[in-house]
Amino acid sequence: MKPEYDIIIVGAGPAGSTAARMAALGGASVLLLEKDREIGIPVRCAEGVGQFGLSALIDIKPHWIAKKISGAMLHAPSGAQVPLHTEQIGYVLNRKIFDFELAQMAALAGVDIETRAFVCNLLHDAHGVAGVIVNRMGDKQTIRCKIVIGADGVESRVGRWAGLDTTTPMRDMETCAQVTIGNYNGEANTCHFYFSQRSFPGGYGWVFPKGQGMANIGLGISGKYAHLRAPCELLEDFLRQHYPHAAILTRVAGGVPCALPVSAMVANGLMIVGDAAHQVNPLTGGGIVSSMAAAQMAGRIAAEAIAKRDVSAKALSAYEKEWRRQEGKKMAMYYRLKQFVFDLDDDAFNHIANTVLKLEPKKRTMVNIFKAALLKKPSLMLDVVKLFAQR
Ligand SMILES: Cc1cc2nc3c(=O)[nH]c(=O)nc-3n(C[C@H](O)[C@H](O)[C@H](O)COP(=O)(O)OP(=O)(O)OC[C@H]3O[C@@H](n4cnc5c(N)ncnc54)[C@H](O)[C@@H]3O)c2cc1C
Repeated sequence: MKPEYDIIIVGAGPAGSTAARMAALGGASVLLLEKDREIGIPVRCAEGVGQFGLSALIDIKPHWIAKKISGAMLHAPSGAQVPLHTEQIGYVLNRKIFDFELAQMAALAGVDIETRAFVCNLLHDAHGVAGVIVNRMGDKQTIRCKIVIGADGVESRVGRWAGLDTTTPMRDMETCAQVTIGNYNGEANTCHFYFSQRSFPGGYGWVFPKGQGMANIGLGISGKYAHLRAPCELLEDFLRQHYPHAAILTRVAGGVPCALPVSAMVANGLMIVGDAAHQVNPLTGGGIVSSMAAAQMAGRIAAEAIAKRDVSAKALSAYEKEWRRQEGKKMAMYYRLKQFVFDLDDDAFNHIANTVLKLEPKKRTMVNIFKAALLKKPSLMLDVVKLFAQR
């Protein structure tokens, strides 16, 4: 580690490693700091991505993929099952390998990387953020830089230290619990989604097969309800009901900021990206692809700012403007749909399932499912058509 870099990135998740690689490819000297001892561990994720979104960002290596997914089954509270008609392919990744290799790709692009390096504060000077204070195995060091990029995930503090408001309202913080089981014998290429206000209030449950008898089984509920019953208790109920003999290989809990994006993503000498900036699809809780897309912009624009010797908030706001232009409207639409869907009661979910099951299989698409759901809320129909119809 050098005493000074152009750019320091806090957090080596998909956002941090992607931003680091882009910034190094743009000619900047870059340091990537990760507090955990190993990049990619622990995995707090169901690991699902769409093939279309990920392949637009990076050449997908076959060994990143645990399972190729070609089908989705939606489960209503009554037990009714709706097979979703979709032409899209998905993957359940192996994030231990995926995250690790994203960081390695950054290293090959020239990024310096340190693990067990906990950033505990920012350094400020008269112009704004000027570096980080990092605790490396008990040894506190100051490292100077021109730009800090906070890619420190849902637990982000970097933005707040620079004066940005990164608070996630309680109702928008999905609190999740998940196990990976080792004796799954369900359909190997189908992901399952469960809806019920009683079992998954303000959220949903999932079963994502990982191949070789493994599956990620979990749920997320709105933080607004987490005080009533903890997500891990609800998951135990679900496992008792559906997988009473599950052999549990891992157990994780975590949060997803299913909120509107933060109101400001840059300050003088500072940018935030990924979960830290709430760049998650608020309807699905998926943040791997969206955080990497944002990180590509952030890394590129950070390197350009270094080259132009202007790291003011005004210069760095090119990143925020580009992100809002490309993603802002879409995220706002997903947020409106999320508010509607996660307020439906179990009778409504059952009614939607029964309506869609009357359609011929090829018509059981996302658009038609939302059409059935939105009969009482036609104002959202335009959002649905824009979001799903052209895919
Ligand atoms: C249970 C669960 C299931 C999910 N399932 C999916 C899914 O199926 N598909 C999907 O697309 N998304 C899913 N997500 C969301 C997805 O995991 C995140 O959106 C994604 O990881 C965001 O990437 P990131 O790089 O912004 O943050 P993260 O991946 O969280 O990375 C942040 C990194 O910063 C490090 N860090 C934090 N603070 C510091 C510090 N002070 N100093 C140094 N390092 C620090 C952390 O250790 C971490 O490695 C799920 C989330 C949860 C909790």
